[in-house]
Amino acid sequence: MTNHDTRQDGARRVGQVKEVTSLANPIVKDIKALSQKKARDEAGTFLAEGLKLIIDALDLGWTIRTLIYSKAAKGKPLVEQVAARTVAAGGLVLEVSEKVMGSIVRRDNPQMVAGVFDQRWKPLKDVSLKAGETWVALDRVRDPGNLGTIIRTADAAGASGVMLVDECTDPYSMETVRATMGSMFNIPLVRTTSQAFREWKKSSGVQLVATHLAGAVDYRKIDYARAPVVLLMGNEQSGLPEDLAKAADRLARIPQQGRADSLNLAIATGIMLFEARRHLLVLDEAR
Ligand code: SAM
Repeated sequence: MTNHDTRQDGARRVGQVKEVTSLANPIVKDIKALSQKKARDEAGTFLAEGLKLIIDALDLGWTIRTLIYSKAAKGKPLVEQVAARTVAAGGLVLEVSEKVMGSIVRRDNPQMVAGVFDQRWKPLKDVSLKAGETWVALDRVRDPGNLGTIIRTADAAGASGVMLVDECTDPYSMETVRATMGSMFNIPLVRTTSQAFREWKKSSGVQLVATHLAGAVDYRKIDYARAPVVLLMGNEQSGLPEDLAKAADRLARIPQQGRADSLNLAIATGIMLFEARRHLLVLDEAR
């Protein structure tokens, strides 16, 4: 590779790789702005960190816009492969100093590789559950860590997707993306309103199991194999609103002991997911 371009903005082009050492570089500024929801919404992109995660995303067909790696990763075969795949997909490859990488991912000990990907949203009208499928619907989830944990758990339980009902925390924030540990690339996301969700439910043929602290049904007594299941979970502070609770076929409760008023939302979702899919989950003893 030959150097053929040196600029005032702290960027130098080496072959198809751009070397950037300046925090003031405009591309770096645009990537850093992705820590803000407004910039993510405008660009329709988001930032994800970690080599394995980026390889998984590319394998699953996600579109990479920019690959960023720190100098220490230069020459590593897997990084070179990912860089070649990024260029082949029409993306940009940036080689940056550790200082620039740390400021992009907002960490002191940053991962060596990060990527900017296009966001993906599945339209609700395209969601049609088949036998054995389970989706999670979250009413106004607020906490990014909860949402990331739920997406990761949904993936681990073999669920088919997560719906975000009304104003939810952004699944493409750095905190949520980190908490998903890569599962977000495997779990379709839908955003919708309460009204559209309730309308969709009427013709969907799904069994809507809503979890509620006042639920009368023990969550272990439901026949989850009867029809495809959507598990509806309430907001962390206020629980499920009445209109959503009324749309449910069953109002399920997880029995509790002790002094806690309720379970953490992500924990309750995990318990429900593994119960709803218990008949479908088998231990692969050969692993
Ligand atoms: N103060 C809220 C309320 O009154 O509903 C607590 C909400 S709780 C932290 C968040 C969500 O987790 C609930 O809306 C429900 O979906 C689920 N959840 C937590 N504990 C549960 C339990 N024991 N049984 C059923 N659902 C539960």
